[in-house]
Amino acid sequence: MTDLSKRSLAAVWHPCTQMARAAVLPPLAIARGEGAWLHDVEGRRYFDANSSWWVNLFGHADAQLNAAIKQQLDTLPHVMLAGCTHEPAVRLAERLSARTGAALGHCFFASDGASAVEIALKQSFHSWRNRGMELKREFVCLKNGYHGETIGALAVTDVQIFRDAYDPLLMRAHIVQSPDSRLGNEAQALAAMRALLESRHGCIAAVIAEPLIQGAAGMVMHSPAYLKSLRELTREFDVHLIADEIAVGCGRTGTFFAWEQTGADWPDFITLSKGITGGTLPLSLVLTTEAVYQCFWSEDVARGFLHSHSYTGNALACAAANAVLDRFDAGLLAQIGKQAAWLGQAFEPLARDNRIRHFRQHGMVLAFDMAQPGERFAERFHLAARRHELLIRPIGGTVYLMPPYLIDAETAQWLAHAVTATFQDVA
Ligand SMILES: *Cc1c(COP(=O)(O)O)cnc(C)c1O
Repeated sequence: MTDLSKRSLAAVWHPCTQMARAAVLPPLAIARGEGAWLHDVEGRRYFDANSSWWVNLFGHADAQLNAAIKQQLDTLPHVMLAGCTHEPAVRLAERLSARTGAALGHCFFASDGASAVEIALKQSFHSWRNRGMELKREFVCLKNGYHGETIGALAVTDVQIFRDAYDPLLMRAHIVQSPDSRLGNEAQALAAMRALLESRHGCIAAVIAEPLIQGAAGMVMHSPAYLKSLRELTREFDVHLIADEIAVGCGRTGTFFAWEQTGADWPDFITLSKGITGGTLPLSLVLTTEAVYQCFWSEDVARGFLHSHSYTGNALACAAANAVLDRFDAGLLAQIGKQAAWLGQAFEPLARDNRIRHFRQHGMVLAFDMAQPGERFAERFHLAARRHELLIRPIGGTVYLMPPYLIDAETAQWLAHAVTATFQDVA
């Protein structure tokens, strides 16, 4: 064990980690990152196949993002966003609004994904309340959905391992069958949603869902058509729709917003975080409509949305996000399309292996399930992968890749070989 890992185990309480297990399998001590590669303190390197929890769109220490942050650092690192404003925040809000054709023209800032979810839930409830419909205070989420770990976000999260211990503390949400391309159950999932909304819409504020891919559930995918029907249902029953694009936004599925693939009109809220600063600084955003915004417009202060965080609209983070959007303005989506195709081709042989099930891909997300994962599969796979210079963390028996947008044909082949070699080691 490296000295840094030892000190970390003594002083750092690691996230999403049973520390007793970490004492046996200590955290990798990373010294630096460069592009898709992480280098540990002992000189080994690892390809960051999950983009460091889905945030590093352009890998590590990207020159353009760094330059934007450095420039902002010397100009204005931060100023409170109540009573003050600044160019990076305004510009970012304008640019995101433009990407929705001004349908979601009002942007609220926070610092992490869970806070963005909390904000969307609060805004939805409060907007109904301000309209005299305080009975609309319940939320609907999808089976196995994930929206973050704070008390409010966890209430609309259906991942037992994260949720169960805190269940007594959580607000009650309705959990409805989720669509899953492996099961071909979209019509049933929609019927279940219709039944709930039909009977309960007078008490429901919003439905929250992860468009196209339920990430933490194990990259569970569904069709854009499901989302279009979901939008129609929420309209029919006068219930808000919150599209949580924290994981799937920023080009991950091939379009800037996953929602763009639905052909439906926009949801009432979109939450963004993770990739928006390319893995440099914490930032999250909630985009919403003129209709929601108007519900808060009043002479009465208490009818306003008074939510705040100290670092709301942090200028450094906004500068990084603007640098990310610059890449999209410069034609990144076309590149992402090509990169996704290279990945798909490279993984074709593995996809046909009969020891795996349900190989699936949407844009820059690839996943497959082990037919027989066996004991502690995720941990074994993770450790075996390190020997092939790959940093990857399966979810249960599901192996997935969510690499930075730095893939060329050769890298795609290398990744497929590394994953296949790891697979041979553990299968
Ligand atoms: C990661 C994630 C969140 C929570 O974001 P944090 O920044 O980890 O709080 C919420 N929703 C989805 C879909 C996510 O993937």
